[in-house]
Amino acid sequence: MNVYADNAATTRTSRTAINAMLPYFDEIYGNPSSLHSVGQRAAEALLGAREKIAEILNCTPREITFTSGGSEADNQAIISAARLGAERGKKHIISTEFEHHAVLHTLKKLEKQDFYVELLPVGENGTVTAEQVEAAITDKTCLVTIMFANNEIGSIQPIAEIGRICREKGVIFHTDAVQAAGHLHIDVQEQNIDMLSLSSHKFHGPKGAGVLYTRKGIPLTNIIEGGAQERGKRAGTENIPAIVGMTAALEEAAEHLDENAEYVAKLRERLIEGLSEIPHSILNGSRDNRLPGNVNFCFEGIEGESLLLLLDSKGISASSGSACTSGSLDPSHVLLAIGRPHEIAHGSLRLSLCEENTPEQVEYILQEVPRIVEYLRSMSPLWLDKVSGKRKFILE
Ligand SMILES: *Cc1c(COP(=O)(O)O)cnc(C)c1O
Repeated sequence: MNVYADNAATTRTSRTAINAMLPYFDEIYGNPSSLHSVGQRAAEALLGAREKIAEILNCTPREITFTSGGSEADNQAIISAARLGAERGKKHIISTEFEHHAVLHTLKKLEKQDFYVELLPVGENGTVTAEQVEAAITDKTCLVTIMFANNEIGSIQPIAEIGRICREKGVIFHTDAVQAAGHLHIDVQEQNIDMLSLSSHKFHGPKGAGVLYTRKGIPLTNIIEGGAQERGKRAGTENIPAIVGMTAALEEAAEHLDENAEYVAKLRERLIEGLSEIPHSILNGSRDNRLPGNVNFCFEGIEGESLLLLLDSKGISASSGSACTSGSLDPSHVLLAIGRPHEIAHGSLRLSLCEENTPEQVEYILQEVPRIVEYLRSMSPLWLDKVSGKRKFILE
């Protein structure tokens, strides 16, 4: 059986999105900046997409900037707010320890430009509170950037309350909503959001497209210079097929949001229940306050990479927190942020489901994971030491 359970990494491009895109590769291939009618048909598609996305997020089309994805949107949002802050003598930025690297690495860069970046701790359940944000804001704060939902452990942040505090204090509030879009209800007015990032390929759109919503009155700083596309704020000929596909995917996701969330959450519950039975395991993130499709566990005494490879050999695609692909064996910064010791954080498994997954697939995962965990443990001298009492277990 083949089970794709890595939807937080990327999703299959939906049929709806592909069909919406196809005409924009050959029939309507014009450049929207061209004055002739071929170009103007593409310009119409671009406008239509902008209006549709604005409607879904509850903002105006002028507040939508199309980007190459979530990373670019995060970079541009943060750099823009920081530039504005610097102009006003405000160089304090508040974020969290467990943001995506698109946010954390951008903040690192700003630290070198004398910005003071404060990363709030997220606690074991992986959430910050509006009170924490309120206590951290000073008269030098120019930006609060906090993700809507975490990509590894799925925990959902109190976005509307954080937004309200920021609004009261006159601080720009950006949220990386890449994992939330298409799965959770988003309304930038209701939730007091000033800037928000989306990525197409996380909700069954094509790769290489994203959105930066920016509330009217907040000037954007270009990170790509060139032509006057996107009101002069993001140069480069617009990726019309991807933008059209992304819009179709978001529309479809928004239409089925509640039913999909309910269905996927049921699969998640069954997975969590089943995996919890594995001895010396622990669920990462909050039991209830998590994305419908997110499951993340640590299993003591195993390496996440070995687990992934063996799962792959059984047709199951999943992911792990530790980034051994980069050559280093650093455990996930997210798992460290919620207090998992290094040794435990290495043995993590993230399964991220979507509405294409089935109960049969979940049962198959529940059959394979315990077997593989047991097998890997049986080969580990360290584990055998624990079983024989020579070393202590960390997870009871
Ligand atoms: C995937 C992801 C990104 C990056 O989006 P890309 O479109 O791949 O650049 C940013 N933030 C979060 C939370 C993500 O999950």
